Amino acid sequence: LHMASRSLHLLNEKAFINGEWDTASNQKTFEVKNPANGQVVGTVPDMNVDDVQKAIDAASEALKTWQKTTAKERSHILRKWYDLLNANSESIAKIMTAESGKPLIESNGEVVYGNSFVEWFSEEARRIRGETVPSPVPNRKLIIEKQPIGVVALITPWNFPHAMITRKAAAALAAGCTCVIKPAEDTPLTALTLAHLAQEAGVPKGVFNVVTCDRSNAAAVGKLLCESPQIAGISFTGSTQVGKLLYEQCARHIKRVGLELGSVHDISRGFLIQEDVFDEFVNKFGIAIKSIKLGDGFQEGITTGPLINIAQFNKVNSIVEDAKNKGAKIVVGGAPAKQLGELFYEPTLMTNIKEDMLIYKEEVFGPVAAIIKFKTEEEAVAIANNTERGLAGYFYSEDVSQIFRVSRELELGMVGINEGMISCAEAPFGGVKESGIGREGSHHGIEEYTYYKYLCVGNL
Ligand code: ADP
Repeated sequence: LHMASRSLHLLNEKAFINGEWDTASNQKTFEVKNPANGQVVGTVPDMNVDDVQKAIDAASEALKTWQKTTAKERSHILRKWYDLLNANSESIAKIMTAESGKPLIESNGEVVYGNSFVEWFSEEARRIRGETVPSPVPNRKLIIEKQPIGVVALITPWNFPHAMITRKAAAALAAGCTCVIKPAEDTPLTALTLAHLAQEAGVPKGVFNVVTCDRSNAAAVGKLLCESPQIAGISFTGSTQVGKLLYEQCARHIKRVGLELGSVHDISRGFLIQEDVFDEFVNKFGIAIKSIKLGDGFQEGITTGPLINIAQFNKVNSIVEDAKNKGAKIVVGGAPAKQLGELFYEPTLMTNIKEDMLIYKEEVFGPVAAIIKFKTEEEAVAIANNTERGLAGYFYSEDVSQIFRVSRELELGMVGINEGMISCAEAPFGGVKESGIGREGSHHGIEEYTYYKYLCVGNL
């Protein structure tokens, strides 16, 4: 049964609670399949709320000692974790490709990116500083300390199975928080490998817990994490729909929330092209898209993999069909690539995009690009802002005043100017509008996991 996975080094098929590899109390499991071929990569526990409560208890217990460790100690442990992640990069990338279908070249890239957050927060751990401020009255000293908020729950998606965890968890650990991680049901194996290496690096038991569950348990588990008085905050990356639900549930308990929601950030991109260069751009872009090598991510030279699951496949298919029905022009692709497997979709380029099409506003997690023509700068900015989302956007210009004017007008958390790959550990990642709350990465990333405590020392 596990032919393909036998060669996967560091594959763990149990959840990780309180420093131990654990099964669901009712012994239920679910299969993780390679979307490129449907083969089972691993079988992991399908945990319910009782199992997750065990992880919350473990994290609460561990918090007592972890929050009292020195920043230097936490820094050293995180550094050790980073070194182990680096040393095992190849194994992590293979597990990621096996469960997510990402081409190996992309998985390798994500491992470098994901590891960089552990390195960064190992350094930042020692720079979480308080303040003293001048008192308005004599004989007093006002001190502002930063404290870890407590146990945090981290819920992550399948599109970046490694980096979405390390970007949150490394910051949380650096701040002195402990965590319960609920990875996406499509990609729990990468998360378990991270846990394996965290333990090897000396992260104490209960500080880093990974609970796995299938989609049918996700809502109940999510609710528990939002409602448990033992959890101080939730950090979530995923769909706007689930993000809104978690925000509502957390509101009832005045819980800290960090949300990284819908984007136009991934492969799916809307392109706004000025009419003077439109035809030339479409032509060149079409050639580039035709050169994409679609297939099994383990094969040499493959640059795009399958969709993650049948729900996403159907979504991509229906978004393209909807556009076609409403008059979009297919320049390249526009159909499933059934000859490669059930979840493959042809890299697609469309023009003649109109506002009533789903593609105009929906996030497409597939190899589909849509191009919209514009005439003036004002028109381009208006189109770009005509959405509830506001994560990242990119534009090209050599006009200095236009660069700063347009950057200011775009309702976005991140802007790439003459650059398409902008995310790094040093910079704050996050959105505005319905794309979320809070920032991850950079020295601001720590803020999500700390609170200010004001001490007033009187009668001095
Ligand atoms: P996607 O559409 O990319 O799968 P989701 O927002 O559905 O994005 O999933 C992101 C993460 O949220 C996954 O770990 C998933 O299991 C989890 N999730 C889904 N539904 C809920 C829920 N009701 N409560 C908490 N987590 C959920």
